Amino acid sequence: MKVLLASHNAKKLAELRRLAAGLDLGIEVVGLDDVPPYDEPVEDGDTFVDNALIKARAGFVVSGLPTLADDSGIEVDVLNRMPGVRSARWAGPAKDDAANNALLLAQIDDVPDERRTGRFVAVVALVCADGEHVVRGEMPGRIAREERGENGFGYDPLFVPDGETRTSAELSAQEKDAISHRGKAMRDVIPLLTALEQTERRSRW
Ligand code: IMP
Repeated sequence: MKVLLASHNAKKLAELRRLAAGLDLGIEVVGLDDVPPYDEPVEDGDTFVDNALIKARAGFVVSGLPTLADDSGIEVDVLNRMPGVRSARWAGPAKDDAANNALLLAQIDDVPDERRTGRFVAVVALVCADGEHVVRGEMPGRIAREERGENGFGYDPLFVPDGETRTSAELSAQEKDAISHRGKAMRDVIPLLTALEQTERRSRW
């Protein structure tokens, strides 16, 4: 069975392929660079669920393949859970990680350590012939006072996951995958794909 992950991100594709391969289900995961190009929709939803569904529906309509799409970001409690769906463009349309981090630090400069709580959130949507499914993963933690670490991307140098003293940019990729919002959501998608594959297999008999 072929599944489309509506993303150009090679790291996300590799992660899902690793998870699917581990189960030996005969699921082939293809990305947006493996299918004929189409006009990708504007991600203008108000929630992670809206945006993930917008992307997954577009992929399914165009390709006819069961389609997965994800949307993610960081929520800071003292900012009413913003940046949220605006995470990538928090400091403007340039999607500049350094500018986003500098703005976030300035906005909560006077907030004491115990109130600097938040979480990374990832929502993965699956759209296929039998309907729509959504899973959500979270990684709770705190916003540090300065950037630390060279790994990861985005807000990782500022985010200290619960139970850690290191930022998520100081964790190895494997350490982050094991506790991350995206890792959790991707792992929860696997049972949905397994069920889909079994339905497909039965319909062939
Ligand atoms: P997207 O869902 O890949 O478009 O990510 C949205 C934005 O959320 C990214 O540009 C980052 O700013 C932020 N973000 C999401 N996940 C992570 C993460 O694991 N680490 C750091 N930043 C993240």
